[in-house]
Amino acid sequence: LPTVSLNSGKSFQSSGDISILDAALKSDIRLPYSCKTGRCGTCRCRVTRGITKLLCDEFGLTDEEKANNWILGCARCAATDLALEVEDLGSLAIPPARVIPCRISVLERLSNDSLKVVVRLPPNERLDFIGGQYVSVIGPGGIRRSYSVANAPRQDNTLEFHIRLLTDGVMSHYWAKEARLNDLLRLHGPLGTFFLRDVAARDLIFLATGTGFAPVKAMLETLPGLSEHQQPRSVMLVWGARSETDLYFDVNAISCVQRYIPVLSRGDLSWRGERGYVQDVFLRWAPDLHNSVIYACGSDAMIRGVKSAVLQAGLPVQRFFSDAFLSSNHSIDK
Ligand SMILES: Cc1cc2nc3c(=O)[nH]c(=O)nc-3n(C[C@H](O)[C@H](O)[C@H](O)COP(=O)(O)OP(=O)(O)OC[C@H]3O[C@@H](n4cnc5c(N)ncnc54)[C@H](O)[C@@H]3O)c2cc1C
Repeated sequence: LPTVSLNSGKSFQSSGDISILDAALKSDIRLPYSCKTGRCGTCRCRVTRGITKLLCDEFGLTDEEKANNWILGCARCAATDLALEVEDLGSLAIPPARVIPCRISVLERLSNDSLKVVVRLPPNERLDFIGGQYVSVIGPGGIRRSYSVANAPRQDNTLEFHIRLLTDGVMSHYWAKEARLNDLLRLHGPLGTFFLRDVAARDLIFLATGTGFAPVKAMLETLPGLSEHQQPRSVMLVWGARSETDLYFDVNAISCVQRYIPVLSRGDLSWRGERGYVQDVFLRWAPDLHNSVIYACGSDAMIRGVKSAVLQAGLPVQRFFSDAFLSSNHSIDK
């Protein structure tokens, strides 16, 4: 069996057509990932030795990245022994994913097309997770959709979700028309690796669009729990939406955010704030990225736009983290 060696010094065996990412996770080696379908790009790593075999398209990589030996761990298996450069999350205690039942305890409109859903777990159960991670919600008929938990772990074990309702969306239809308080659902999680790394003394920047604010809120809630020497130097949030009512949360009430810039793409005449793309507005306000670390969450298009803009502006790729709210049509929730 091919051996995969990481720049952290760890190694694991890869077998058959199992992806490099799954082989690592099976061996308890924690690498960054999110969609596991070749689209989001979170599991990218650089091959420094050996040959890989493609399992599915690598939409999450640019042509330039492909030409420079970057691959997606979820989209390739090892054809020979490999040496990879990748972020090893091994020192972090990432709770294992499991399936757990829950009941809806809050259903509340946040805006025209988004909903706040809170679920509670059975009394003796808890779901350990790190603020920013997502779960797969298993609804009626076994349909599964990914949703970021919009809170840091709570004493009462409830989980909050901010859900955008899509026209013709299968799960959206359930949330909008059928969901009732006390409905029984199941969760599979926690999933993904979108959570804060070391942010000590950094300028911490969150970029979000729409319900992409959910994991940002969860991460912001984890900040007060960090010790003084782990705290970032500054915290900034740029949150984009179509209209003012889509900015459904009072960010000014979150005391650790020093600079909040709301951005609208379709603000009416009374809107006096910023307009346009989140990345353009952000770079106007914070052109110097030498001490920054960026966490971005929202649509796939927004993540791509933001990533290319901030990398071009000089941010090292190791300090860019993102979760793309990819449509579930193509996503396989493993
Ligand atoms: C890691 C991750 C985290 C996420 N977190 C959140 C979150 O916190 N909040 C949130 O709101 N969303 C989140 N999402 C997105 C979410 O998982 C769902 O994709 C979203 O809610 C849509 O699900 P749905 O069942 O309503 O729509 P789907 O039924 O999956 O349809 C999606 C869209 O595709 C269109 N469509 C359906 N079928 C077809 C077809 N055959 N051809 C073309 N178009 C079609 C529908 O009209 C709809 O607009 C996340 C996604 C990921 C991957």
